[in-house]
Amino acid sequence: MVETDEHGVVPACSFPAEDGLTVQTGAADAAEARDVNLDLVLSDHNLRCTTCGKNGRCELQDAAIEQDVEEPRYGVLDDRDEYEPIDDSSSFIQIDRNKCILCNRCVEACNDVQVEGVLRMEGSGQDTRIGFQSDAETMEESTCVSCGHCVTVCPTGSLVEKGIEDATTIPLPGFTQKNSVGKTDESTGTSKGPMTPKKRTEHTPETPTTEMIDSPTDDGISSDTWSDDQSGGDWL
Ligand code: SF4
Ligand code: SF4
Repeated sequence: MVETDEHGVVPACSFPAEDGLTVQTGAADAAEARDVNLDLVLSDHNLRCTTCGKNGRCELQDAAIEQDVEEPRYGVLDDRDEYEPIDDSSSFIQIDRNKCILCNRCVEACNDVQVEGVLRMEGSGQDTRIGFQSDAETMEESTCVSCGHCVTVCPTGSLVEKGIEDATTIPLPGFTQKNSVGKTDESTGTSKGPMTPKKRTEHTPETPTTEMIDSPTDDGISSDTWSDDQSGGDWL
């Protein structure tokens, strides 16, 4: 978002340039608009960065760090009711829609550059998601030719190549990209997966410790898990 004398605050990426247009990138209103937008995006994103294959090379993570985000004002994804199951059906590309920020890059890459016409945006409002033009339910059933272009342009860990899903996750036993999907059970304070996303201010201890505890997950598999007062922030 930038501020123009002529049109007020506008999105720089899509607003048509005009002769004589005065653009201020550092204006206070534009900076506030960027801040609000970033928090909105973060509120709809699985922030378990330490179990994400894009950890350390994610544009959303970079933006949050650059903007010194400590606690997204609109909450985090765990405040919502449902996580979408990861689409792991394709042999080449995995889709985790819980990390999609609806930037449309993959759709443009697939349709306008590769001219494969596989991907599309579907739904509306909060239900907007990437889907398939063929009405397929999964990547495997779609007409995807596995060229991988969508993966290369995705700014987050929503589209990743199979085989490197866990390439940049923190190498701790029990922590994987797939088991980071699951909502915290408010009544018991436990997570369906071994990770529990919390706002950074709630779980940044004065003196961090690295002690691990071992606790069984819902499916009976024993996994190493950070206890609440020991984790130092699992989304950045
Ligand atoms: S990998 Fe499949 S979905 Fe992605 S750009 Fe290529 S054809 Fe489209
Ligand atoms: S490029 Fe990634 S973040 Fe953007 S719409 Fe596609 S899947 Fe979502």
